[in-house]
Amino acid sequence: MTVYLVGAGPGDPALLTLRGAEVLATADVVVYDRLSVATLLDLAPAEAERISVGKQPGGPRTSQEDINALLVARGQAGQQVVRLKGGDPFVFARGGEEAAALAAAGVAFEVVPGITSAVAVPAYAGIPVTMRYSSTSFTVVTGHEDPAKGEGSVNWEAVAALGGTVVVLMGAARCRAICDRIIAGGMDPDTPAAAVQWGTRPNQRTLRATLATLADLDPQPPATIVIGEVAASDLAWYENRPLFGRRIVVTRARPQAAALAADLRQRGAEAIELPAIAFEPPEDVDRLARAAAEVGHYDWVVLTSPTGVGQFFEHMRDARSLGGVRVAAIGPGTAAALAERNVVADLVPDQYVAEALLEALSEEVGPGGPGRVLIPRAETARDVLPDGLAAAGWDVDVVPAYRTVAPAPDPDAAALLADAEVITFTSSSTVTNFVDAYGADAVPEVVATIGPITTATARNRGLKVTVEAAEHTVDGLIAALEAFFAR
Ligand code: SAH
Repeated sequence: MTVYLVGAGPGDPALLTLRGAEVLATADVVVYDRLSVATLLDLAPAEAERISVGKQPGGPRTSQEDINALLVARGQAGQQVVRLKGGDPFVFARGGEEAAALAAAGVAFEVVPGITSAVAVPAYAGIPVTMRYSSTSFTVVTGHEDPAKGEGSVNWEAVAALGGTVVVLMGAARCRAICDRIIAGGMDPDTPAAAVQWGTRPNQRTLRATLATLADLDPQPPATIVIGEVAASDLAWYENRPLFGRRIVVTRARPQAAALAADLRQRGAEAIELPAIAFEPPEDVDRLARAAAEVGHYDWVVLTSPTGVGQFFEHMRDARSLGGVRVAAIGPGTAAALAERNVVADLVPDQYVAEALLEALSEEVGPGGPGRVLIPRAETARDVLPDGLAAAGWDVDVVPAYRTVAPAPDPDAAALLADAEVITFTSSSTVTNFVDAYGADAVPEVVATIGPITTATARNRGLKVTVEAAEHTVDGLIAALEAFFAR
């Protein structure tokens, strides 16, 4: 078994390497620091042990000797150990000391390099660390030692004399002393300088000044300081994303929340997953299995959610049972879930609500009159569709395909909701369950819903709805949020 010293990258979870993700997925133990991103810890198996060795606010820091001893002990015990470190494990991260301790103890180890903040954080602020001709080197220096005391090992005068770009890590607290020493070393005080706080994260903030004035802006850790001509470049892209910096709560069920959260993050938002709904098998699974086996007796099968599609197909043992049965989907998400199972929906209404589906189906009555319809769907759902079809003369069978339940309230909810700005509701049950669990007062300022039914439920619970998707899909909801914040 092996101890992996893994670079986690500077913050954006997508900047973990493929090898890093691979070894995390096989970990028995993950040893991580305070700044580690929760999404990365989620890549480890659920049963893996997670040990925080970072300094807790107000609490003690695990000493480097204790961390070394922990890694050695777990390695010797035959565990698959991932030591997750910010950026690159060998750049100001004491990974060298950990590797030396493992080597001395004869424990097998592997180093998985990471993307260092020294390069990636400036990149996310639109600052290239080199430029042809004008900035032909970059020096990465630790700002951890006190430059005013003169006893440190960093030769700031030499750093100043080298020219090129100077990148200082761990320098926020001593920014003034560092800049003063570099100026004393002969660098022009008017040289552009920038400090990028919380780089590659949705709360990234870039302070721009000169070598002489950067400290006046009082940069706060964690910050990467860049000094040199390149610090004047502002090739902004990350901070320009349409939802950059917005803290948005996602209340969908776990498996679907991930996709919405990823879409929001891609647009620069910080997505907070707080599922207000979960799915369970229906009470009468046999009935669903029977309906799936006998689906060939129906003229239409009507599916009203991706979860319904998943449950129905899980119980359909033979794809041929579907035969010539026609298939309707309430909207594009459901149609996509069908397409994943190689079934092309015969009908998707223009508006993705039950009323529109009812209307579209009533135009499908053949010469023999209304036929037989099977509707596998949530155990509790609105009756608009089955009642409407029955009234129009269809022979309707509604079969519960799954149950929606309220998950246990998240004990960390208060912290997660503290600075949230937006909450997204993709169904009435997410509204109901969220308000029941956390109260209407916990709801963030901006409420965004997928459509009018969800909006009505939210208003009933006393919420003010600011954003409603024009197209009642998750993409429509994201588009509505973008439009709202563009104003
Ligand atoms: N091994 C890490 C560096 C560890 S030293 C790497 O290769 O990136 C910690 C310092 O890195 C911080 O004090 C800060 O200067 C810098 N840093 C780490 N994450 C950062 C972030 N998200 N934004 C800005 N600077 C960051």
